[in-house]
Amino acid sequence: MNYLITGARPLGGDPVDLLLSDGRIAAIGGSLDGAGAVVVEAAGLVALPGLVDLHTHLREPGREDAETVETGSRAAALGGFTAVHAMANTDPVADTAGVVEQVWRLGQEAGLVDVVPVGAVTVGLAGERLAELGAMADSAARVRVFSDDGHCVADPALMRRALEYVKAFDGVVAQHAEEPRLTVGAQMHEGDRSAKLGLTGWPAAAEEAIIARDVLLAEHVGARLHVCHVSTAGSVDILRWAKSRGVQVTAEVTPHHLLLTDACAESYDPVFKVNPPLRTDADVEALRAGLADGTIDAVGTDHAPHAVEDKESEWASARPGMLGLEQALSVVIETMVEPGRLDWAGVADRMSVRPAAIGRLDGLGIRSQGRPLAVGEPANLVLVDPAARSVVDPAALASRSRNSPYAGRELPGRVVATFLRGVPTVLDGKAQK
Ligand SMILES: [Zn+2]
Repeated sequence: MNYLITGARPLGGDPVDLLLSDGRIAAIGGSLDGAGAVVVEAAGLVALPGLVDLHTHLREPGREDAETVETGSRAAALGGFTAVHAMANTDPVADTAGVVEQVWRLGQEAGLVDVVPVGAVTVGLAGERLAELGAMADSAARVRVFSDDGHCVADPALMRRALEYVKAFDGVVAQHAEEPRLTVGAQMHEGDRSAKLGLTGWPAAAEEAIIARDVLLAEHVGARLHVCHVSTAGSVDILRWAKSRGVQVTAEVTPHHLLLTDACAESYDPVFKVNPPLRTDADVEALRAGLADGTIDAVGTDHAPHAVEDKESEWASARPGMLGLEQALSVVIETMVEPGRLDWAGVADRMSVRPAAIGRLDGLGIRSQGRPLAVGEPANLVLVDPAARSVVDPAALASRSRNSPYAGRELPGRVVATFLRGVPTVLDGKAQK
């Protein structure tokens, strides 16, 4: 089946037609003749390369009551994604070639996005000895991103060895930066509000200390480091300094850290409990500035579905984490595009091109992600209506979980269609399977 997309605006530019055939973009131009092709009218819609997430929790295997590879893939496609990196903190942990190949196969069966497994850095995420990084890299899942996310690789000698090891196959260690001895019992950002609410604080220094240590280790070893979910102004300063020295470091920010602050904790609604915690207005401003100037490379959702019993409880006993895939693009439009801090090319860069490059997905032939919208490239793209606005209804989400921090909030932007290698996974805003 061929598709002719008419009148779309690639990266917000002038309207053109795009002909998709055999999984690739076959032609781009005015009034294309797409004889026999299915026509998708896209007047007024912005076309972007398919979005790539570096940080998704799909919960399978182990917590299929919260999410599965299939339900998470559907949520991703509806959010405009064509590839997601599935984090390793499943049960069993994705710390062997067998488990990462299982997740990879489940993603292929679902067929809605490319599910790219992340491998654990340490066995069982226990932080004691390195997992079989080479075997995971050589597996059918072709793992390039390694992370103990949920836990910090706190031991500096182990972190150094992980960085040395992944160099052999051009891998990257994605660090959840949290010095555990500074966050024992932490419930929210440490500051005026935590003092007022009587909740144990998570100090910014616990994140910044690990990032500072790790950029020095990455520089010393000459390896690639990626920093997950950067949340503080000080972290942005350290990353800017490290990049100015030529350290091979990249970083991501979540949609929720771009939009929400620790003021949300005043409601005691556990939907706003997340790790790292929501920070201050000044931190949010620094994160937006860092994403705008490229110090922060990418938006990573940290989509973290949780079953009702793990989330609808008292604040102190609720699990940290919130949904992100289906509203990520809308939050970026709200916080970055509408205020004029990123144009559409910038959105494509931070949500597709750079995350694909960090995951080394940009050079895989027809399976490439994060490629330009150009003739001959794989037809991975999303059509978004930037003018549409809607109120988020958690009951309408494709995720198996309901812990959206945006419930009841009006956000701009609607994903109208998503194509994965020329096949629509979403049309008219509806998942195609
Ligand atoms: Zn994390």
